[in-house]
Amino acid sequence: MSTVSEQDKQDFRREVAAWLRANKPADPGFLLPQSFMEVGNEQQLEFLREWQHKVWNAGYLGMAWPRQYGGQGLDPVFQSIADQEMRRAAVPICFNVIGLGWAGPLINDIGTEEEKARYLKGILTGEDIWCQGFSEPDHGSDLGNAQTRALRDGDDYVINGTKIWTTMGNFAKYMILLARTNPAAERKYDGLSFFLAPMQVPGIDPRPIRKLTGEYGFTETFFTDARIPASCLMGAEGQGWKIAMKTLQYERGAEAGAAGGLAFVRIVIDDMIAELADVERDGAPVLQDPAVRDQLVQLIMEEKAVVLGDRRAGIGPLTTDYPFSLPLSNKLRFTESTRRMRQLAINLQGADGGLYVGDAGARQGGFWQRAYLNSFSATIGGGTSQVQANIIAEHILGLPK
Ligand SMILES: Cc1cc2nc3c(=O)[nH]c(=O)nc-3n(C[C@H](O)[C@H](O)[C@H](O)COP(=O)(O)OP(=O)(O)OC[C@H]3O[C@@H](n4cnc5c(N)ncnc54)[C@H](O)[C@@H]3O)c2cc1C
Repeated sequence: MSTVSEQDKQDFRREVAAWLRANKPADPGFLLPQSFMEVGNEQQLEFLREWQHKVWNAGYLGMAWPRQYGGQGLDPVFQSIADQEMRRAAVPICFNVIGLGWAGPLINDIGTEEEKARYLKGILTGEDIWCQGFSEPDHGSDLGNAQTRALRDGDDYVINGTKIWTTMGNFAKYMILLARTNPAAERKYDGLSFFLAPMQVPGIDPRPIRKLTGEYGFTETFFTDARIPASCLMGAEGQGWKIAMKTLQYERGAEAGAAGGLAFVRIVIDDMIAELADVERDGAPVLQDPAVRDQLVQLIMEEKAVVLGDRRAGIGPLTTDYPFSLPLSNKLRFTESTRRMRQLAINLQGADGGLYVGDAGARQGGFWQRAYLNSFSATIGGGTSQVQANIIAEHILGLPK
């Protein structure tokens, strides 16, 4: 439980809000990514890197991380307030999410002092971009069967294989890499190890993949006899699966420790209602149609439930039986309801719903169409909705396989 007084929280909230009002960047005049999964070019990258650095420099990122590694060592409640205000102010994302949200908390939690000193500050400043090498072309949900090899050779590991859907793989300096060090292990999980691997070494070739939105954001990443120092191994050989599962808990929002900042731009139902208020169907505002209103009310309830669910997840005693139950179910409900909301935003536009970014007459420049297509990302990344539902059913509700 936080011991920070209500007065201190309110004062801090006012301070952040004032800073954001004074420092929110102007529209850069080019398309910014709607989430960290769509950073597709250097122009976007440099804009977002500068913004993240500014937020960190002002003291509003990594507030609960230790001071000696670039954080502030403060109560996590301050970071929650800063994040809420960033969302309210609809500022750009802090793009280095794999570092801020997954690799960083993991290193903070189980890393050695050397690893903490080496990696944490660069994550916060945005200098060191991190990516995640888990999924492979034939092993996504089936992660335990990952086949990329890391074989020890003197003071190095030699990496061979292919990872895919590597968000920001072409910009990253480091990768959290899951690879097989012992192909002969009896249990497939015991053959896996976890690395904090450098990306800028010969033999690593990240090739950008184009998404259905026309944007880039991830790569297929080829490893051909790539040598990384043996000191990049995190923990011991054979502990890779355990560490990967811990990482996925962060990724699925199930464990505290994230440095903060927005990973997604704010897209809420109130904005949709305001934006579509003037759309007419059969001579009357479409938002007055009773059937549409039913759908809106349903989505408003879902959005509110997610906000309340997030708050409940922060109350330890509510989740003692299965500590990750609320965040896990929230990820499933939030990503699916977000997708439905954006789909409705297109449906309500009638024939104009078919227009896209760059088309003359597209409402808000095709904002909702792009948002809808991008909404599938979060229903797949970090575990698909089906896999997520399985975990909830089997591990939380105790249903049979
Ligand atoms: C935008 C985006 C960014 C990503 N970024 C990264 C990244 O940075 N690093 C990384 O390593 N990966 C990343 N991923 C990959 C992501 O983790 C995988 O796509 C995901 O785990 C699913 O794996 P897959 O694509 O191989 O699909 P598959 O596992 O082949 O699944 C195909 C379909 O089968 C269903 N399915 C599979 N198994 C089951 C089951 N047991 N029960 C019920 N249904 C099942 C799935 O739900 C899905 O509908 C990213 C993905 C996206 C979309």
